[in-house]
Amino acid sequence: MIALSACLLGYNCRYDGKSKKNLALIKLLESEKILPICPEQLGGLKTPRARSNLVGGDGFDVLDGNAKVINTYGDDNTKAFIKGAYAALDMIRAHNIERCFLKDKSPSCGVGEKYLTGVTAALLIRKGYIVEEVS
Ligand code: SF4
Repeated sequence: MIALSACLLGYNCRYDGKSKKNLALIKLLESEKILPICPEQLGGLKTPRARSNLVGGDGFDVLDGNAKVINTYGDDNTKAFIKGAYAALDMIRAHNIERCFLKDKSPSCGVGEKYLTGVTAALLIRKGYIVEEVS
């Protein structure tokens, strides 16, 4: 079973209320069982919501208390991002997940190839999961 950022599957869960549906990936994974996850929603953030950015470090630094997640209004969403990351981890653990495909350039899901590693991606990497970044 594979975990996938829900916006890649077509869920309108992004900060702007839209998705980033990836038809090629959905086709590639059509024979797989998929667990959609949206850590920002799992953390209690509304949709749509102001865009958030990592400040002072990456997701690993956020988990260690050395960086924050701040939205464009200056609100500190660090707790929500950490809560969402652990909620996603709980779901992944409960579903016997083998691999995770996560949306790139996200302060939650980004794996770090095109932007900083997000909070959820950092937690999953630390826990030993295979995470792959997808556009
Ligand atoms: S990138 Fe991750 S946190 Fe952002 S909308 Fe997609 S699934 Fe949710």
